[in-house]
Amino acid sequence: MRTTTGWRATGPDTVGRTQLTRRDLRPDDIAVRVDFCGVCHSDVHALRAHDDHAGSALVPGHEFTGVVTETGHDVTAFSVGDDVAVGNIVDSCGTCAMCAAGQENYCHSFPTLTYGGVDRVDGSTTLGAYSREYVVREGFAYALPAGLDPAAAAPLMCAGVTVWEPLRALRVGSDSRVAVVGLGGLGHLAVKMAVALGATTTVISRSEDKREDALRLGAHAFVDSTDDQRMTAARDTFDVVIDTVSAPHDLAPYLKTVAMDGTLSLVGYLGQVTIETTDLLLGRKKLSSSGSGGRPGTAEMLRFCADHGIVADIEVLASSEVNTALERLRRNDVRYRFVLDMSELG
Ligand code: NAP
Ligand code: ZN
Repeated sequence: MRTTTGWRATGPDTVGRTQLTRRDLRPDDIAVRVDFCGVCHSDVHALRAHDDHAGSALVPGHEFTGVVTETGHDVTAFSVGDDVAVGNIVDSCGTCAMCAAGQENYCHSFPTLTYGGVDRVDGSTTLGAYSREYVVREGFAYALPAGLDPAAAAPLMCAGVTVWEPLRALRVGSDSRVAVVGLGGLGHLAVKMAVALGATTTVISRSEDKREDALRLGAHAFVDSTDDQRMTAARDTFDVVIDTVSAPHDLAPYLKTVAMDGTLSLVGYLGQVTIETTDLLLGRKKLSSSGSGGRPGTAEMLRFCADHGIVADIEVLASSEVNTALERLRRNDVRYRFVLDMSELG
């Protein structure tokens, strides 16, 4: 075992500094010095859901960049010193139909999550990248394309790939009309990607003070979701609506904005949702959801972002400020992703 320093759950909203262990390298593992890790709203949800008495620690963090410090005997894709990026999935069975199709994110025996997952070899609970070191199978690490700032690229690995997946699956292109609901970590990257794919892109937000930002990010229009008149005017107008809202909410107003045969794609974790059949029926609309991306899709997303100069708009904080980041994220006080700088951890 190797030891490193990180941040583990100390309560439903907080983390505290801790020592933690990483496994010794298996033949296809790499060790990564974590330099930057994004703070995802899923980290907020995970802290809330964590049962302190469950016996295993919770160390959040599942979108990070860093440098390879050691390689296992069989590693071929990476060398010590390489810049890498890792997202929210670190293993899968590799043999089921989903894995064979390059959709490891839907692995039939569940993909191993970067934190709070179950390691497929030793059964331990995975600990996330709010820490200085991570050990990962090489197949689930990605070369960070040259030209992408390592801090601003970290959020691509969860927030980015999570919105890339529906944009690609729903074949968004220059003839698409896309709406992004919720301008946060996922939402602002969805806007940048949809715009780069050529789509006419609208932000639907309850925060009027994000209007200017939405347009600066490339959106063609901004709709205040609290303005009933504007929402009514947007009826049946979007081929794809990507809903990134982080809290339970009524889907009806957003379904109404979906065009005939269009899709409302939910990427926020909403638990159970209720819909009126007529909101789907009137216009033959579709409701969809997805989580993360597979290995080919993640690599494609990184290439696309490098080609189009897409990274997250970030506020970098020293990792000792992690509780401030979590608290501000809960208050929607983030433009548009916090990234923790892990360097002070040694
Ligand atoms: P975030 O940065 O906090 O952004 C969420 C946005 O939703 C906010 O900026 C806000 O936008 C809007 N919002 C928040 N609370 C709302 C409410 N009560 N009513 C209406 N709008 C509200 O969060 P994020 O990191 O982008 O994550 C978004 C969601 O996706 C979370 O639930 C997260 O757990 C989930 N997620 C899913 C996956 C996946 O694989 N499917 C991956 C990562 C994250 P406005 O101010 O513009 O309204
Ligand atoms: Zn995430």
